[in-house]
Amino acid sequence: MKQTIATIHASSWINGMATTIGHVDKYMYNPSRLSELVGHLHYANTAQVEEAEAAAHTALKQWKAMTGEARGAVLYQMANKLEEHKDELAQLASREMGKPIKEMTGEVGRGIQLLRYYAGEGVRAHGDVIPSSQHQVLQYKKHVPLGVVGVITPWNFPVAIPIWKIAPALICGNTIVWKPAEQASLSAFRLCEIFKEAGLPDGVINMVLGKGQEVGRFLVEKANIQCLSFTGSTVTGTTIASTCAARNIKYQTEMGGKNAAVVMPSADLKSAAAAIASGAFRSAGQKCTATSRVYVHEDVQDAFLTALKAEMTAVKLRPADDPSCYLGPVASKVQFDHVTDYINMAQTEATVLYENDDTIQEDGYYIRPLIVTGVDNDHPLMTEEIFGPVVVVKTFSSYDEVISFVNASDYGLSGSIFTTTLDEAHRFLDDANIGMVRVNLETAGVEYQAPFGGMKQSSSHTREQGQAALQFFTNVKTCAVKF
Ligand code: NAD
Repeated sequence: MKQTIATIHASSWINGMATTIGHVDKYMYNPSRLSELVGHLHYANTAQVEEAEAAAHTALKQWKAMTGEARGAVLYQMANKLEEHKDELAQLASREMGKPIKEMTGEVGRGIQLLRYYAGEGVRAHGDVIPSSQHQVLQYKKHVPLGVVGVITPWNFPVAIPIWKIAPALICGNTIVWKPAEQASLSAFRLCEIFKEAGLPDGVINMVLGKGQEVGRFLVEKANIQCLSFTGSTVTGTTIASTCAARNIKYQTEMGGKNAAVVMPSADLKSAAAAIASGAFRSAGQKCTATSRVYVHEDVQDAFLTALKAEMTAVKLRPADDPSCYLGPVASKVQFDHVTDYINMAQTEATVLYENDDTIQEDGYYIRPLIVTGVDNDHPLMTEEIFGPVVVVKTFSSYDEVISFVNASDYGLSGSIFTTTLDEAHRFLDDANIGMVRVNLETAGVEYQAPFGGMKQSSSHTREQGQAALQFFTNVKTCAVKF
């Protein structure tokens, strides 16, 4: 019997409650099964964005006056409540944007870890005592909240990315106006409900649903915010960065990637192939840190490609709720059309080395994983972010040549080298113009306690996660005291 799953009505969330629901702006269908309605969205208007910002300013007075320990206690409760709802939220997010259920459950787990990590920061030492040049003067630096923080997030990590911004912003004493991606609105709404159930005071997180060009733009251009943290595409991020710079609002923009993996002659080819397949094809390649360029030394090209093709037998294209799914559909029609353009380009302008032959009965946004070769470094397949299950392979003949290939990209988010030679590993860690550099590990998967961010067009050069986020979400005061 076909299971009937309840649909969700999602609206903005202001001052601890759902806003009045008027007409439906968008119906959300499961990208794994397009006949399955997952929920309805009701978008905010600009007056509601102003209301959200006002609620955040009102809540700020009390929230920043609480001790770090008390704020931390709220974050621990948020983590515990999220743990209670882990499976339910993972299922909703997976049905909303098509991430395989196993990965989505892991992502909610990451959200819980982030909340606990930052909860502990409420009682850790921050700041420095700076020796004064005068007698009997105590001089020190302390970190203070910025105020109301605007948060704009993409759809590809619907739970972890919002939490890796929200949790550090909150522990530092800020309040939030959050604009999630349209394709992740249902999970955003449910997260707000869960956090309220956990005891988060009203107005501390306010969430506005809507289109980026309307609601997001209004938040960036007009709202009374003191800081803006954005993750999304480079084209959107660079526009947002210039608006924030003109308004003199503290900002960070984490953006796209075109991440390279390098396979040296000494590499363990089987484990390199497994890591590269995982980096390229999990989440259907829709990770900013996904592997999308592979450079293989000419001496091991044939052996590596044999290992990679063998690995592809495990790469199953399935509906996202199938536990055997390695990759599911792409998230939306927009994504499907965007990636299909590159697939067509690959099939006409490159040589296809491997195409998965899985056939799916369901009607969804399925794209078969593709491995291609035969294009130069300046070809769009090598330079543009595809954000789908396509990886391009090219050979090289020396370390100097490959490092020039890796660094030729406009992006600099993540990258890996596969080698058993320590000297090559260290050279790559030094030479790659990349924010997250890895040895014998896939390009994706940076841990939550470590700084996350890129170089060049991938980032505005601040870092997220770990201790770095605490620097970003605070202002520094230099204090000097004489009695
Ligand atoms: P996107 O830029 O289209 O949208 C991101 C967010 O910005 C959404 O909430 C959207 O509604 C909003 N937005 C769009 N236009 C806006 C505007 N003019 N003003 C204000 N807000 C606006 O990106 P996407 O398609 O949601 O996400 C995919 C992109 O995100 C990829 O490029 C990927 O590499 C990148 N990404 C980067 C990281 C990272 O940490 N570097 C992580 C995940 C995703």
